[in-house]
Amino acid sequence: MRRLANAVALSLALGALSAGAVGVAVGAAPAGAQVTPVPPPSPPGAVLLLTDHALDGRGGSLGATRVLILDGKIASIDAANGAAARVVDLRGYTLLPGLIDTHVHLDSHFDRAGRIATEKESAADQALGIALAAWETLRGGVTTAQTVGDPSERPVRDIVRDHGLPAPRILTSLAPIVGRGDATPSLDSLRALVRARKADGADLVKIFASTSQRVGARPTLTFAQLAALCGEAKRLGLRSMVHAYRAQVEVAARAGCTQIEHMTYATRDEIAAAASYGAFLSPQVGLVVQNYIANQGRYLGVGNYTPQGMKTMLDDLPRDFEVCRYAAEARGANVVFSTDATAGAHGRNVEELIGRVEHCGMSPTQALISANSMAASAIGMGDRLGFIAPGYEADLIAVDGDPATDITALRRVVFVMKGGVVYRWEGARGP
Ligand SMILES: [Zn+2]
Repeated sequence: MRRLANAVALSLALGALSAGAVGVAVGAAPAGAQVTPVPPPSPPGAVLLLTDHALDGRGGSLGATRVLILDGKIASIDAANGAAARVVDLRGYTLLPGLIDTHVHLDSHFDRAGRIATEKESAADQALGIALAAWETLRGGVTTAQTVGDPSERPVRDIVRDHGLPAPRILTSLAPIVGRGDATPSLDSLRALVRARKADGADLVKIFASTSQRVGARPTLTFAQLAALCGEAKRLGLRSMVHAYRAQVEVAARAGCTQIEHMTYATRDEIAAAASYGAFLSPQVGLVVQNYIANQGRYLGVGNYTPQGMKTMLDDLPRDFEVCRYAAEARGANVVFSTDATAGAHGRNVEELIGRVEHCGMSPTQALISANSMAASAIGMGDRLGFIAPGYEADLIAVDGDPATDITALRRVVFVMKGGVVYRWEGARGP
């Protein structure tokens, strides 16, 4: 992922957009005067969802029922009285919790010329590129996205949360901690990096324990270094996500890291060991590589996006399918939804779930759980998200068809609600 040259400029650009949207008068207060923050939008009114088929996010299903939404949360199932509520008739579709993608890169987008954006882009174009990626992701049925890798993600997270920019709920690692492949950084200096991320407002830390698959997938952090990083994160109440290939998969899980990404070239035994340590495991089989290949002309020439790197990813796709099967078959493994979506892939996140069923033997229900209740647990929000029950956030989607029997139904999202607000409704009966 690229780095923004000036995250502050981006923050200002997003702030300007937000201020414009709520009509703040420029110059209303003298310079330096104390002003109160612009209040968030008022909570949405009551909504009653009529459904004749709902999947609860934990592998169960609800029959015909009425789901009452109040103050952005699920107030009751089988609601007897929703007379004052706005009614959305979702009968004929399947209702399920909004999807939770634990690994995306919302900062990654194509510029106006259709090429992967670089630091040369203006701050306004950067901000709008991120906002568009976030909106596409929400429209595609993802109501929570954990975006891991750039300081620009914080202002987006905050503006979505505080001012209702149409986007998923966002969690971010801010800039990643990147192993350099030597023993130089002391354990204390690594712990200090984690504390700095916490101080900057990160929700988790993202750690690179291997070089990119495009340049050899070599180890870059030792067990002791990973244990220092992930241990410090845990001490501070942060989760840790590790980019790892080969034997580093087992090393990172043994070091106590929370979630292990990619896992290409790992053996069945290494993956089984990683599962035994309780780490969430995330192989990618359905979207990220296919998207790079489909859009390679837009990526080539920037960073390590070379023809050879693209060829390596394509040639090794069968190995990705293999590690995904190892993970799915490992005893007690928590294989969680995680796309690594970059430019070109935003909004098509469900392709990863379809790939998990087609290429690694997961059942549609396992895939759906991995994107609902399991993903909620992986991001530490299992008591608020990923389940249809009273008290849970009203993050709900509806699709045309039954994804529990045909996972490709996820491509046909007709309804998206987040926090009780309807962001998309284009079924036969809506809007
Ligand atoms: Zn990534």
